[in-house]
Amino acid sequence: MRVLGIETSCDETGVAIFDTAANAGQGVLLADALYSQIAMHAEYGGVVPELASRDHTRKLLPLISEVLIQAGLSRRDLDGIAYTAGPGLVGALMVGASTAHGMARALGIPVLGVHHMEGHLLAPMLEEQAPEFPFVALLVSGGHTQLVAVEGLGRYRLLGESVDDAAGEAFDKAAKMLDLAYPGGPQVAKLAESGEASRFRFPRPMTDRPGLDFSFSGLKTHTLTAIRKLEAAGELDEQARADVARAFEEAVVDTLVIKCRRALDQTGLKRLVVAGGVSANQRLRERLDHETAKRGARAFYPRGRFCTDNGAMIAYVGAQRLAAGERDQPGIMQAVPRWPLDRLSVPAAVA
Ligand code: ATP
Ligand code: MG
Ligand code: FE
Repeated sequence: MRVLGIETSCDETGVAIFDTAANAGQGVLLADALYSQIAMHAEYGGVVPELASRDHTRKLLPLISEVLIQAGLSRRDLDGIAYTAGPGLVGALMVGASTAHGMARALGIPVLGVHHMEGHLLAPMLEEQAPEFPFVALLVSGGHTQLVAVEGLGRYRLLGESVDDAAGEAFDKAAKMLDLAYPGGPQVAKLAESGEASRFRFPRPMTDRPGLDFSFSGLKTHTLTAIRKLEAAGELDEQARADVARAFEEAVVDTLVIKCRRALDQTGLKRLVVAGGVSANQRLRERLDHETAKRGARAFYPRGRFCTDNGAMIAYVGAQRLAAGERDQPGIMQAVPRWPLDRLSVPAAVA
């Protein structure tokens, strides 16, 4: 089954084609294309929802043509269409949803709205060394920080999550305080490389008590206080900014590592999947590789460009579910701004 995947939940227009039958039934990603709106939103220091919707409208159809050319296919060769139905910005979601429904209707093929975080969660399945079920997943993105026990497609048990800011959001806010451009994660990481780890020590929130929840809003205040103090003392030079970035990154990474370790212990599982934008962070990967190796476990990640939003993860998840017989009700498109991950359906064919 050849499935076109469409992602328009936030500030990236992503389109891809996944074929479930290729590679002896294991499936193959035939094409993927991405247009990032980052440069447009950077001017405003964050995503402007109305501009995002308009830009998706401009870029989506050209990107669909592009992936069809990449795959050497025509629209008639498609067997199904999947789109991100949520969570996300409602106007942005509606661009993908209405295009998917319109196209599917014209072509007479099935269409399905899928969950954006299930896309992130299963993105490592597109890699050569894909994880087998069951596993623990750490979802760390711009809007989510969650630990999930994953038993199979659609079988997700929430182990813990952030009670306030997401890890990516904390990176973005720290970046703003350090006068770095949006999105801040990669910029903070880059600045932190030349930082001295021992100069400041930031707290590891919620690690001193049991449980798998996170809280990152306190680190924001801590960062601001550190910067203000340096400023007042006339010491906020380039090295000091790098030292703050380093202390911030260490605190976030260390906190995530401590909770992953706990989640592996609690579940007894030996595989850890890390996905979402922050999973691109090199320091986080190094620490998690080390920690998992120490306990005879293993960590799995998406390739760099599939950590942040992309069409490939939506094509993959949509293909699994469409192949199992799931479909949207005819003519009813879905755009769901808030949608908990642990309320997904388990497709009958894989139940
Ligand atoms: P969600 O998926 O929760 O709806 P989103 O789609 O906006 O949110 P993603 O696109 O998955 O989030 O990830 C973007 C986030 O990842 C941003 O907050 C960005 O700062 C962060 N990020 C990207 N690269 C890195 C990095 N190398 N280190 C730390 N953070 C990073
Ligand atoms: Mg994004
Ligand atoms: Fe995302």
